[in-house]
Amino acid sequence: MNQEKLCKRCGKPVEVFAEDYDTFEQMHWLCFHLEFEHEGDVGRHRLH
Ligand SMILES: [Zn+2]
Ligand SMILES: [Zn+2]
Repeated sequence: MNQEKLCKRCGKPVEVFAEDYDTFEQMHWLCFHLEFEHEGDVGRHRLH
């Protein structure tokens, strides 16, 4: 059974990091990062 996982933040399917889907609150790791962690690290990296 291959249930489609949709990101709660952007609504797109989560495929690459499906294993981490639950870890990241049903979001892409990046969406999770932007939602919860990115606020404090804007000056630290330019990946997104
Ligand atoms: Zn997303
Ligand atoms: Zn960030």
